[in-house]
Amino acid sequence: LQREAGSGRSRIITVANQKGGVGKTTTAINLATALAAIGERVLVIDLDPQGNASTGLGIDRSDRILSSYDVLTGAKPLQDVARETAVPNLFIVPSTMDLLGVEMEISNTRDRVVRLRNALAAPGAATFGYVLIDCPPSLNLLTINAMTAAHSVLVPLQCEFFALEGLSQLLETVGHVRSTLNPSLEIQGVVLTMYDSRNNLARQVVDDVRAYLGEKVYRTLIPRNVRVSEAPSYGKPAILYDLNCSGSQAYLQLASEVIQRERHTRAA
Ligand code: ADP
Ligand code: MG
Repeated sequence: LQREAGSGRSRIITVANQKGGVGKTTTAINLATALAAIGERVLVIDLDPQGNASTGLGIDRSDRILSSYDVLTGAKPLQDVARETAVPNLFIVPSTMDLLGVEMEISNTRDRVVRLRNALAAPGAATFGYVLIDCPPSLNLLTINAMTAAHSVLVPLQCEFFALEGLSQLLETVGHVRSTLNPSLEIQGVVLTMYDSRNNLARQVVDDVRAYLGEKVYRTLIPRNVRVSEAPSYGKPAILYDLNCSGSQAYLQLASEVIQRERHTRAA
């Protein structure tokens, strides 16, 4: 089963943390938008039954005929499910609540953990420069599929007291996927989200996380910013909703760090 993730020139990044509300979806859609804005063809795969990435990129629930469910069950090839968003160069495989049942449906199949990787390896799927996978708040079969399909994992951590709680479990899961299915899987980086510089505790959390994880932590801090939290209700990424707000600017900066790290890895 061991094989290199992905195919062609796509870089596949999984955004994962089993905690909910830490900024996975916000990071996935804004990073994707920033990468699309510099001319990359970018695909977001929504693997959360909640479908927040789909909503945040303007795809109405009533309008999700084909979804990541169809990709995982093998009913449809990925390129038939990927669709345009309002952001030029940015495509999405939306999700629906059907995903809640997919684990049961495929759990007895031999290829259950490589379903997404196989879908991404199909020739028609190789037209994207970047693929970002938005995971559910769980280390379940969906997240394992995402890690198995990816070159790297990007971990958002919220700047709060329990930021590091659960991280060892997440890193163990990455280690497990690496030792079994995806030997080249790396940690792209750890991004600190919802940072409030007026809050002493938040500053302490940043110091602690940097002391613990060192260079894996991006220099960019994503500030807590009301414009970022308003954007999804308009079906837009923050970068499109208000490019000049501090949150959007931080996500642009994060994108340049991500690209730098990808270049470094590719050159190595
Ligand atoms: P997850 O996908 O990990 O569950 P989300 O990205 O959905 O997390 O973020 C959780 C909530 O926090 C959402 O309501 C989102 O709009 C809000 N949020 C995320 N990042 C920020 C930020 N930088 N500033 C303000 N609100 C944010
Ligand atoms: Mg989410």
